[in-house]
Amino acid sequence: MTPDEIRELTVERVREGLKARRFSATELAQAALEFAQAENPKTNAYLHFCPERALEAARRVDAKIAAGEDPGPLAGVPVAVKDVILTKGVRTTCASRLLEHYIPPYDATAVIRLEQAGGVILGKTNCDEFAMGSSNENSAFGPVRNPVAPDRVPGGSSGGSAAAVAQGTAVVALGSDTGGSIRQPASFCGVVGITPTYGRVSRYGLVAFASSLDHIGPFARNVRDAALLLQVIAGRDPMDSTSAFAPVPDYLAALDGNVRGIKVGLPREYFKDLTSETGDCIARGVELLRKLGCEIREISLPHTEYAIACYYIICTAEASSNLARYDGVRYTRRSPHSETLSDMYRNSRGEGFGAECKRRIMLGTYVLSAGYYEAYYLKAQKVRTLIARDFTEAFEQVDAIVTPVSPFPAFRLGEKIADPLAMYLSDIYTITGSLAGIPCMSVPCGKTREGLPVGMQILTRHFDEVGMLRLAYAFEQAGGADV
Ligand code: GLN
Repeated sequence: MTPDEIRELTVERVREGLKARRFSATELAQAALEFAQAENPKTNAYLHFCPERALEAARRVDAKIAAGEDPGPLAGVPVAVKDVILTKGVRTTCASRLLEHYIPPYDATAVIRLEQAGGVILGKTNCDEFAMGSSNENSAFGPVRNPVAPDRVPGGSSGGSAAAVAQGTAVVALGSDTGGSIRQPASFCGVVGITPTYGRVSRYGLVAFASSLDHIGPFARNVRDAALLLQVIAGRDPMDSTSAFAPVPDYLAALDGNVRGIKVGLPREYFKDLTSETGDCIARGVELLRKLGCEIREISLPHTEYAIACYYIICTAEASSNLARYDGVRYTRRSPHSETLSDMYRNSRGEGFGAECKRRIMLGTYVLSAGYYEAYYLKAQKVRTLIARDFTEAFEQVDAIVTPVSPFPAFRLGEKIADPLAMYLSDIYTITGSLAGIPCMSVPCGKTREGLPVGMQILTRHFDEVGMLRLAYAFEQAGGADV
């Protein structure tokens, strides 16, 4: 297989290739691994590869094909997995020095499901440390470069997964999203990224950042492949008590291109300051939706302005509690020079965590402390309810909401790293959907004059991934990426 063939693979093409016996799953895995390893220095998208596991998975697919059995919907498909998702026997670092040598004893449910479906995991992808960030520059193992423009960030925190899919070194990838970490890098790299309804995909084996907001979701180069990966990983899991019992519909059946009469809401609050090229791309995207027969209406989500403050109180509070387990006793590296137990805790954490994690632990501890809890944490929880209610009310008038994913396209490496507040603004449009727990996704919607991709966000009611995917697919098929 030539590099160009590998770069352009889709789930469909892998299936056809296997069926026509143009390649075996093992040959494909070998070629894909070689290609990904050769390309990786350009982006640093992968932190490490797992060739043994990949070849083992590919051999299982070949054996099933040889025995005349169904090898599964993802048979032979090269997959990348964000390094906050546990893989048994394969290092999982969360891009942190603390977990540099951590080898998990079990697999995340999403990982088990994608391998059962025939997927071939090539390796683990770079990200912001413990998924905290919007540019991938908080990784302890170096930033990721955007394959579209190597002097720019790929977005974050799932920057490595987005970059691998955009670069063609994986056909699909798993990422995680707490406040925008799938949608924002998908938009920066020009690929499709889905944050499913909270509870739609099991979080078992996802290293916790902010448990009430964390999601696992897919990246792909087209809507169909993303929908297929979602299909494979979605559904109740007894190992995660927050995973939903709701039945999983057939997502591919929704991809019929028919969106006539669908009511699409544009929230006033998201568009009022958007005068950039991003705004122009989204405006052209909305025009395309209108041409496809959607009914476009202005709506209001009045509590939007409080979302960032609300999110950074809730997520830091939960993070400070979740990250307390990294104490130098279990999992993590231990500081070698400590006289007492408390010094050992302090030094292990002090040496192990990067600046952003420390900032969040301190903020989170503060908002949870006696005397401040009511003023900050409890207040933020109440505001979260108001933000969720905004969406419920909006969905009484419209079937879907369309917004930009980010106020700007991929920025330059180093541009925002010294100013955490500027960085936090990257997620101004994605955080609301996360707080409400509704499904949201990014689909490519044109490019700026410099050729930087722009993503359009689609949000729908809880568990209406079908409606969201239908709209995204129709948009993509009508040329949305080039509006
Ligand atoms: N950028 C946001 C943050 O830094 C979102 C991160 C995420 O979704 N994991 O918290």
